Amino acid sequence: MISLKRKSDLHSYVSRFKSRGGSVGFAPTMGALHEGHLSLIRKSLKENDLTICSIFVNPTQFNQKEDFDKYPHTLPSDLDLLYHAGCQLVWVPELKDIYPEGQQNENPLDLGNLDKVLEGSFRPGHFSGVVQVVQILLDAVQPDRLYMGQKDYQQIMVIRHLIESQSLPVTLVNCPILREPDGLAMSSRNVRLSAEDRIKACVLSESLFRIRDSVSGPGEAESMLQRERDYLKSIPGLRLEYLELADTRTLIKPERIEAGREFILLVAAWIGEVRLIDNVIVQF
Ligand code: AMP
Repeated sequence: MISLKRKSDLHSYVSRFKSRGGSVGFAPTMGALHEGHLSLIRKSLKENDLTICSIFVNPTQFNQKEDFDKYPHTLPSDLDLLYHAGCQLVWVPELKDIYPEGQQNENPLDLGNLDKVLEGSFRPGHFSGVVQVVQILLDAVQPDRLYMGQKDYQQIMVIRHLIESQSLPVTLVNCPILREPDGLAMSSRNVRLSAEDRIKACVLSESLFRIRDSVSGPGEAESMLQRERDYLKSIPGLRLEYLELADTRTLIKPERIEAGREFILLVAAWIGEVRLIDNVIVQF
């Protein structure tokens, strides 16, 4: 596995590779890697001649300094996991190479509704930071395919909007959520849960699955949602931010829930000191 630091080295390596006709798959990450991240790498390995993973904890997408300061850093084990997964190139850039002119975002992309709802309303500025860094990473890597996880569903919609609005020559590949055996969506933040909170954390996916599996028609969906919100709010040490049903593309709350149509059901909650998100596609 090749490991590169400088953006210019990465760019010239990939340009040479692409000029020989090879296809490139790219999975950007913030490190503290787990099986969820590796599933992106494995999918890319099947579909491309060269798979690149970047590890960069991007400060501009953290709306709380404390969250950034506490974000886990596990580079040696990340490199080991990537090597054993068969990843061919890892790019670990430095802050000053990504933002040589500073971190201010001069020309933020208009995301319309996408950064106003759900994560956008609870994490102001988060998606403009995500777009800022993904634009820089894509510009350097110039991949044919970009691998991202449905775990961050709203992020996928935002990056889809970026790709479509700028006509970027890259295909976005949406990869399914990998879960722990008890249903908890894998996340780099899970290691920060206390033993007690780790057990508690599976209530989020349980609520999502209960709604998905037990609502027998559109008429029942709203009351079931409210019941699950009340249930989650009643759990000591859990602070619910949202549990919402939304249109799969616009993320707007549907005015009417039609039978047979797909929606996305999303949840965000603090469990102790750790904020977790999860989602599932539903059809009633
Ligand atoms: P992060 O390091 O959290 O920025 O995540 C890097 C990429 O891995 C993003 O595209 C995430 O959506 C994806 N990812 C994170 N957790 C999971 C998971 N449990 N299953 C699948 N993909 C994931």
